[in-house]
Amino acid sequence: GISLEEVSLTFGSGDNAVVALDRVDLSVAPGELLAVVGPSGSGKSTLLAVAGGLARPDTGRVRVHGTEISTLSGRQLARFRRTHIGFVFQTGNLIPALTARDQVRLLDRTGGRKRGAARDPGELLAAVGMEAKAGRRPHELSGGERQRVGIARALATDPSLLLVDEPTAALDRARSHEVIELLARQTRERKVATIMVTHDHDILGHCDRVLTLVDGRLSE
Ligand code: ATP
Ligand code: MG
Repeated sequence: GISLEEVSLTFGSGDNAVVALDRVDLSVAPGELLAVVGPSGSGKSTLLAVAGGLARPDTGRVRVHGTEISTLSGRQLARFRRTHIGFVFQTGNLIPALTARDQVRLLDRTGGRKRGAARDPGELLAAVGMEAKAGRRPHELSGGERQRVGIARALATDPSLLLVDEPTAALDRARSHEVIELLARQTRERKVATIMVTHDHDILGHCDRVLTLVDGRLSE
């Protein structure tokens, strides 16, 4: 699971200061899918960056799977991220040259194997319904299929925390529901704590809880 306590982050200073996160308290249990909605610029992506240790908050604590990540050194944090946190971005963040199978095997751009792969790629591709297209590269897949591969890739290290930014932004209604159903099922079955940021109010029915972020303030 994950918890944030009194987390604040301001970008810039003086007249240009933007309070992106304003004393945010939040906790998500293993197996829970939380949705965060809010207007553009309200701090949603910043919340994911801080939750995932990609940005450090000015104040407050972030605890993931029992570890307070705000106190880790850069190296420790990078290592922790690799093994405990999965990210899924709007575009699926796939590597253009790699087949679906190699994305999920966590090969890097040069074909070398990244550390941290814990799961069988075949089993993961089957779980997201992509085993028949395991040999395809991203440009040979639809947007929804890319998202599925992106989710499988993010789950490959068996993370305790999954952070998902606007996964349905490029998808039509039917595809959006498919991707979110998949995300909800994987969250439950793998007991991962998932935070998903979205503009898409259509898909909120698949989530366990919905919070709203406005000007960096989180509320029910
Ligand atoms: P969207 O729905 O458009 O993706 P968002 O809710 O994800 O928006 P954020 O990207 O978290 O919003 O940005 C929150 C605020 O912080 C915005 O005012 C943005 O301009 C500002 N901001 C984000 N990142 C930075 C940065 N690296 N430097 C300065 N300001 C930033
Ligand atoms: Mg954003």
